[in-house]
Amino acid sequence: MTRQVLIAGGGIGGLAGALACVRAGWEVRLYEQAQAFAEVGAGLQLGPNATPLLQGWGLGHGLAQVAAFPERIVARSSASGRELGRLPLGPRCDQRYGAPYVTVHRSDLHALLLRAARAGGGVHLHLNSPVEAMAEVPEGVQLSWADGRIVEGDALVAADGVWSRVRELLLGDGPAPPTGHLVYRTLIARADLPASAQANEVAAWLGPRLHAVSYPVRGGELLNLAVIVQGEPPEDFRVWDAEGLADDVQQALAGCCSALRDLAGAATSWGRWTLCDRPPLSGPQPMARGRVALLGDAAHPMRPFLAQGAGMAIEDAAELGRCLGPVQDLALGLPAALGRYAMQRWARVARVQARSRRNGEVFHATGLPRLGRDLGLGLLGRRLMDLPWLYGYRPQA
Ligand SMILES: Cc1cc2nc3c(=O)[nH]c(=O)nc-3n(C[C@H](O)[C@H](O)[C@H](O)COP(=O)(O)OP(=O)(O)OC[C@H]3O[C@@H](n4cnc5c(N)ncnc54)[C@H](O)[C@@H]3O)c2cc1C
Repeated sequence: MTRQVLIAGGGIGGLAGALACVRAGWEVRLYEQAQAFAEVGAGLQLGPNATPLLQGWGLGHGLAQVAAFPERIVARSSASGRELGRLPLGPRCDQRYGAPYVTVHRSDLHALLLRAARAGGGVHLHLNSPVEAMAEVPEGVQLSWADGRIVEGDALVAADGVWSRVRELLLGDGPAPPTGHLVYRTLIARADLPASAQANEVAAWLGPRLHAVSYPVRGGELLNLAVIVQGEPPEDFRVWDAEGLADDVQQALAGCCSALRDLAGAATSWGRWTLCDRPPLSGPQPMARGRVALLGDAAHPMRPFLAQGAGMAIEDAAELGRCLGPVQDLALGLPAALGRYAMQRWARVARVQARSRRNGEVFHATGLPRLGRDLGLGLLGRRLMDLPWLYGYRPQA
């Protein structure tokens, strides 16, 4: 019996979902709105909760070729550049969690997933296909497009991101609102930077009312730098390229140390993202309904202050494959399996969403809370920064 799942969205979550479903014995038809598969944006951190899942899909070697393996995460004061605390990574992370902590260019990870989806068979990829409508029908789920195309599958996975059309049709709970943060992102050739700025580390520069994150990607060739400030969303906040962003960044960093300002000064171009999220999930309901499941940002858009949005999408995908694998009875077994997927995922994702929000407050603290943060990191840095509940998670066998 061929069991067919439709996937809306071909980002990191959609492609990871496709790989997991194919491995679980399902045929996949994936529909991406863009005219070409590509990822905009810059870098991603992937913790040892996500990397073993990629390794399990046979992507460990490919990942090692494009990723960087930072030796530590260092929290610094954005005002002085002083180190506040550190978490060793490298071999210590491997020993503790049995998997590496890596940093990778988003398009490199996306290309890796895409190659695997194309190579394995069983995944049919369709570009230029912005899903317009969906309907549950007695034997399955239908997707349709503005040009009149209609397809039917046994199940539907919505991996169409923070502004998910499928979520809107299924739950009607309105768009994810802006959080009040703007992210400026750039990539800099590391060879152009002074040796002092070439450390193989994830640096989180914590300020009052802003923070910045820098780390190597593309095997260390490039440095990813993101500067996160508090601010009102621009009028068209879904557009990420705009004029004059370098000036905005330098203005935002005016009170910061010269090391951070010089780093930003070395950038030749910037993109700007308006962050949007939803409150932490309060139950499994939004993640599955009937024959439809939500995955990644469509299900739980989160602030990137724990660097786990893509990691959660990859974990979702692994859990989805595990739940769909044994399904034979499509009428009853399939909705039950998707319900199980939602049950397995929601509480963990909610915890990550909540922690991401809290990190944002801590990273941007002012006054006494800022002093307390800096003191705490100095005394207990490693204990505060190591998160066994997060990094040690393995989906249930
Ligand atoms: C500044 C920043 C830094 C981040 N850093 C990290 C990090 O370090 N680590 C980490 O794990 N995560 C990080 N994240 C989060 C991570 O980028 C996202 O959580 C992750 O990319 C979500 O993947 P997704 O596939 O669910 O959604 P998306 O990547 O948004 O993919 C959705 C796809 O669906 C397509 N689509 C949309 N609508 C339709 C439609 N109607 N029909 C068909 N296709 C459609 C889109 O074109 C897109 O290809 C960061 C995010 C930001 C903004």
